[in-house]
Amino acid sequence: MRHDFFDILIREGFESLLLSFAPTPIEMQSISDAYGLVLGEDILSPENLPPANRSCMDGYAVHARDVFGATESNPAYLEQCAQLRVDEAPNFTLKKGDCAAIPTGGTLPDGADAVVMVEHTQELGAGTIEIRKSSTPGEHSMLKGEDAANGEKIYEAGHSVRFQDVGLLAALGIGSVKTHRKPRIGIISTGDELVEIEAPPRVGTIRDVNSHTLRCLVSKAGGIPVNYGIVPDKLQKLESTLAKAIAENDLILLSGGSSVGMRDLTVRAIEAMADSEILAHGVAISPGKPTILGKAGSKPVLGLPGQVTSVQIVMLSIVMPFIRHLMGQRNSFDCRDRPILLAELERNTPSKQGREDYVRVKLKHRKGNIPLAEPIYGKSGLLKTMIQADGLMIIPSDMEGSYAGEQIQVWLI
Ligand code: AMP
Ligand code: MG
Repeated sequence: MRHDFFDILIREGFESLLLSFAPTPIEMQSISDAYGLVLGEDILSPENLPPANRSCMDGYAVHARDVFGATESNPAYLEQCAQLRVDEAPNFTLKKGDCAAIPTGGTLPDGADAVVMVEHTQELGAGTIEIRKSSTPGEHSMLKGEDAANGEKIYEAGHSVRFQDVGLLAALGIGSVKTHRKPRIGIISTGDELVEIEAPPRVGTIRDVNSHTLRCLVSKAGGIPVNYGIVPDKLQKLESTLAKAIAENDLILLSGGSSVGMRDLTVRAIEAMADSEILAHGVAISPGKPTILGKAGSKPVLGLPGQVTSVQIVMLSIVMPFIRHLMGQRNSFDCRDRPILLAELERNTPSKQGREDYVRVKLKHRKGNIPLAEPIYGKSGLLKTMIQADGLMIIPSDMEGSYAGEQIQVWLI
């Protein structure tokens, strides 16, 4: 049986179908395991951080107005009323004309609104401190609630937890948060010619590359890869493996058999699943056109190209942001999460209109200038272009290419 591609969708059209799938359920997670996961709740600060004004420096806590205008040649003179420890909660109010010695991190007494660094002071004896530098309110001090004010919304649901966020949560005493569960992602390689990587080389066989690259990229996106090995181009076997993978995972990735040839069985295997539907077959990106989106019940099933480079591009451009969506991340298809570098295109790079082109580029770093980006051409069945590439340059579908000398954005991979 042979069929044609359905209407080829533009990438944005394909993505809007993907966005209709619901993210994974929410569960409590300790902050030590929340790194890289996505918040399933807004978080309000339960307290002020810092809880009181604190010093950023070793020096003297002062009333800024007492030392305003002080210089080396025209110092101010204050009386030291206390020597504060770092763990002390001062129980007095700083009087006008007084100062208190304070260490870095120490809590300012009431009334004090600035700290003068010890380097700009001199002890004159008998408790008198010479201040040789002017100060302004808030100087060298962290104000109460400056990191987070009591009740302030510090995170919105959909935010991906970064290491610095774990630090803030720890500082606020928030030991666990609600996050979306890591999605389990089933990976199936298909093709009569495929063999395990341990197999001795023989003309006519190909070692299974995609199971391994997909595993890496699923982990990189934050999912849990679950490999189902190699399935030959036999519909029954493909159907039984797919059914098992659907039962055990949140998303299923099949590679190979996604085009419209005689042995391309992915569409038929998806159609054979209970409560299934093919939502799209074909996306206007290059490489990567033979990509299928189907669903079985509520589970998404993606049929990816077999070509080793094409499948890597589809993973980077579409599947990894989709995994982030399943993990609960808002706007996961936006460019903002992709590290992008500005570079100068080294050579004219033609591109066919009507499809979004993912040109592999190699960066050549230069002193005092943005890097040069050399486009790398090659067939999508070879691994070489991705091996040589440092990044991708995306040429929109309505353009016929880019010219040498143009500044381009390189999406680092
Ligand atoms: P297909 O889409 O099944 O026609 O496959 C396209 C090309 O990709 C064929 O040359 C396949 O041998 C190759 N291919 C498919 N799956 C894999 C895989 N898992 N590892 C390496 N090459 C593959
Ligand atoms: Mg095949």
